[in-house]
Amino acid sequence: MKTQQEVLYIVDALKEKYPHGLCSLQYEKDYELLFAVRLSAQCTDERVNKVTPALFERFPTLESFAEADPEEVGQYIHSCGFFRGKSRDLVNCAKMLLSDYGGKVPGEMEDLLRLPGVGRKTANLIQGDVYNTPGVVVADTHCIRISGRLGLTDGTKDPVSVERQLRTILPPEESNGFCHRLVLFGREVCTARRTYCDKCPLRPWCDHFRGSETAQEDGADE
Ligand code: SF4
Repeated sequence: MKTQQEVLYIVDALKEKYPHGLCSLQYEKDYELLFAVRLSAQCTDERVNKVTPALFERFPTLESFAEADPEEVGQYIHSCGFFRGKSRDLVNCAKMLLSDYGGKVPGEMEDLLRLPGVGRKTANLIQGDVYNTPGVVVADTHCIRISGRLGLTDGTKDPVSVERQLRTILPPEESNGFCHRLVLFGREVCTARRTYCDKCPLRPWCDHFRGSETAQEDGADE
């Protein structure tokens, strides 16, 4: 278990490495962020950023999305994978935003979770990036992996449990930026395939690193 001071050191070290804790998806309107996040499931942000300019040009308003043929939407997002389900969600989501929320992406968790294709990860991201809601935690694959390695969580892979555990220890005003920084950090330093601990600023507080050091020492004694 980390002390509050250790948590703050980790938060600050990541902030120093990545001063801008921003989402890497490109968007202008609130629903464009929502749709881009839906497209990013099982896909990279880089790929999503390649398809959304043409998509948002062809369907420039929520109304045009609501009236769109999902098959045509699918042609624009084909390369993101799972395009049939994603295009159906985008069109149905546009319809619900217009019919139930006056064309605005809602800010309450309960409302967000009603929208087609929206789960807690997306809902937290919208609350953090659109509404600046404090305390949100986007428990994506980077967040789950790195939080476990650091020892900020008990190592669970369950997103809801990771979200709950991080909500209790992160300063609420820092949590959204922290999660965005973990994405950048997870692509560059603490990747799924390999940990570049030799160039990691979080080493002093990392359980995984301490564990590997101990293992090396144990090996040397044998
Ligand atoms: S010290 Fe290694 S395992 Fe720990 S966060 Fe850094 S890169 Fe990941």
